[in-house]
Amino acid sequence: MMAMRLVAGIDLGGTAINYTFLDEAGHFRIDGLCEHPARSVDGPDVCLAQIVDGLALAASHAGVDLARVVAVGLDTPGPATAAGVLSSRGSTNFVHPAWSGFDIRGAVEQRLGRPVVYLNDGNAAALWGHVSLFGSDNRATSVSAIIGTGLGGGAIVEGRVVTGRNGFGGELGHVLIPWQAIPGIEGLVPQCNCGRTGDLESLCSLTAIRRTLLPFFLAKHPGHPLAALEAAEAAKQVRGLAVGGDPLCRTIFQVQARALGLFFDEMINVFDPDALIVGGGAIEASSEFQRWFLDEVRAGMPPQRAEQAGIRLHVIPNGDTAGARGAALEATNVARH
Ligand SMILES: [Zn+2]
Repeated sequence: MMAMRLVAGIDLGGTAINYTFLDEAGHFRIDGLCEHPARSVDGPDVCLAQIVDGLALAASHAGVDLARVVAVGLDTPGPATAAGVLSSRGSTNFVHPAWSGFDIRGAVEQRLGRPVVYLNDGNAAALWGHVSLFGSDNRATSVSAIIGTGLGGGAIVEGRVVTGRNGFGGELGHVLIPWQAIPGIEGLVPQCNCGRTGDLESLCSLTAIRRTLLPFFLAKHPGHPLAALEAAEAAKQVRGLAVGGDPLCRTIFQVQARALGLFFDEMINVFDPDALIVGGGAIEASSEFQRWFLDEVRAGMPPQRAEQAGIRLHVIPNGDTAGARGAALEATNVARH
């Protein structure tokens, strides 16, 4: 029997690294999370050793031979260049000073002795969402919005991730939307960390819930149970309460869905895509809730041309493994050559 070649996917987050392996038949050899502590706060030397050690542990967990891994996909939170050099201005997830301007792709490649390709975490998740819908060999186009602390994502055009000239391709969160068209938020001024008012992230992210939407709606309903809690704690409970049917929390998610609908309408007119995809921690919930959310997204879109009205809206499956899976898929482009 021929020994099968494999690629590895390494998803480096702020606190944990998640791994997967993808074989030539297109099967992921790990079903769920396979995590190892990242220790990124201790700087590159410690974190790189964690990445290498964790990969060996993951291989043993999955029962695969590391010698058969021919290429590696790596994803991390940004900002970073398309070539995997972390921003010299630092970032929330890489606070140790030695990370400033660090070539993480090159360093992992050197340590592992195999070609390493890099994607930012939003682009990697978008690629997995895309392939989960269209398969790995496709010429389809999709736009994915990943709703987490911020709003990341990616555009996949004819099967390829658009990383952009500087690595900022798919920074969907900072695209301005006509938010004044959303009903029920008259008087709200949604500010984003980037300095813009009314971009997608300012309304559709966990940060938007805590900073903007929850205070706005609690001011109108001061008797709501969340009004008695400290702001960060109250914000954490919004998704759970929304899933349970709490009207105020549903309204918050409805506003987020409407914002996403306005954004997706812009993407429909730019790309005429095959599908629009949603992922991220904010909608890791029951399938009933996800269906409701997608219906609200669609309801938030202005009327479409007849040809585009039925465009597919899709939720990323296995969302917590999306980064590692997308990174592994990107590595298959290298493994083929
Ligand atoms: Zn912004």
